[in-house]
Amino acid sequence: MECLLCGHLKTHKHGKTSKGSQRYFCVKCHQTFTDTFDTIYYRRQVSPQTVRIVLQSHAEGSSLQGVSRISGLAYNTGVSLIRAASQKGQLIDNQDASNIECSI
Ligand SMILES: [Zn+2]
Repeated sequence: MECLLCGHLKTHKHGKTSKGSQRYFCVKCHQTFTDTFDTIYYRRQVSPQTVRIVLQSHAEGSSLQGVSRISGLAYNTGVSLIRAASQKGQLIDNQDASNIECSI
């Protein structure tokens, strides 16, 4: 697996996290990371289905309190997930927008 921090190609398996996901160790930058590094799942204990419910109900216009009620998560967890997804989306959009060629 490629290092998600420095891009080095050689990494070792390095035990598991307390939640059971595989941890990797990079021989170049000497740091450890997991598969979910740099995703909205990183260091969260929320299942992908629940994340989907939160984001879908938010996109359909539910209130934040409503999102919390529907998903069964705490209000602040829902807000944190929506904020994280929004930031990721913004980064992707910015990258796409900077690749647009235009002529005057
Ligand atoms: Zn590395």
